[in-house]
Amino acid sequence: MNAPLLKVTGLKKYYAIGSRFPGARPRQLRAVDDVSFSIGHGETLSLVGESGCGKSSVGRSILGLFPITDGSIELGGMRIDRLSPEAFRPVRKKLQVVFQDPFSSLNPRMKVRDIVAEPLRNFRPDLSRAQIDRKVGDVLDQVGLPRDAIGRWPHEFSGGQRQRIGIARALSAEPELIVCDEAVSALDVSVKAQIINLLQDLQRELGLALLFISHDLGIVAHMTHRVAVMYLGKIVEIGTRQEVFFQTRHPYTKALLSSVPSMKARGAGSRRIILAGDVPSPVDPPPGCRFHARCPSAMDRCKVEEPPLVSHGDGHASACHLNDTHGVPAR
Ligand code: SF4
Repeated sequence: MNAPLLKVTGLKKYYAIGSRFPGARPRQLRAVDDVSFSIGHGETLSLVGESGCGKSSVGRSILGLFPITDGSIELGGMRIDRLSPEAFRPVRKKLQVVFQDPFSSLNPRMKVRDIVAEPLRNFRPDLSRAQIDRKVGDVLDQVGLPRDAIGRWPHEFSGGQRQRIGIARALSAEPELIVCDEAVSALDVSVKAQIINLLQDLQRELGLALLFISHDLGIVAHMTHRVAVMYLGKIVEIGTRQEVFFQTRHPYTKALLSSVPSMKARGAGSRRIILAGDVPSPVDPPPGCRFHARCPSAMDRCKVEEPPLVSHGDGHASACHLNDTHGVPAR
């Protein structure tokens, strides 16, 4: 098997928050708590889960937007999580991001040319103005925007077109991996499909790897190679699209799938599974299985014993005591 492009091992990201009482020890919000996965060259891994499960913190950790608490992140075999800002600069060129909101993520005081050229100015100081203009024109072609977009302002474009501008900005750096953080969540259904098709075309053309972060399994169903499902800071199931959607192991994944009409919840039966209660606080995660208070299959031991991530072969793994009769620890 080829070496992965990105390898995340035992990633933890805790945020210090104020203590409840004067003099008490400060508390920690465990946004990401021992998460491991890898992404191959030209592969899409989707990270899915409800709001607050830690998926965006994983993306931001990889992008080096803040220091991680523990674990390691490697890109192309090189450890990138402890680099100085100087040393991280060439890495940042290879790692780009497309954010959720195409309205707030583009500077309204910059024309499209300057927005798309920003990474070129940062990472390719050797290029002349004419060379930069040529490159900006090329990436606008790649994302399906007209050449005259170059001299226009972001407010002159629709949401879908703005997201194309955001993708053009990411592409101009010639990245190896793009983190798409809820990149289509704010768009209308038909525009979502267009942007997903565009990302797939670009991936085929340029061999890009994508980390696709989404709260919606339905969105990733038709475009991802592999899926990792997160709950309260941990991966509870990971595998290929086929494994996670159609040989589903974890009760939480089954519940998420059962709410996706287009999937007919084949992995979870056709019955909609309504989860009781809300996601618990990542400041005081429950003991045992973090999902036990909402799990329709919970047993007594689930309240006290945390289930390990167990492999079912070929990279499909899930963390649930119902696995006890099958599989071996995932790592
Ligand atoms: Fe449900 Fe128990 Fe499995 Fe957790 S370990 S998902 S509570 S059955």
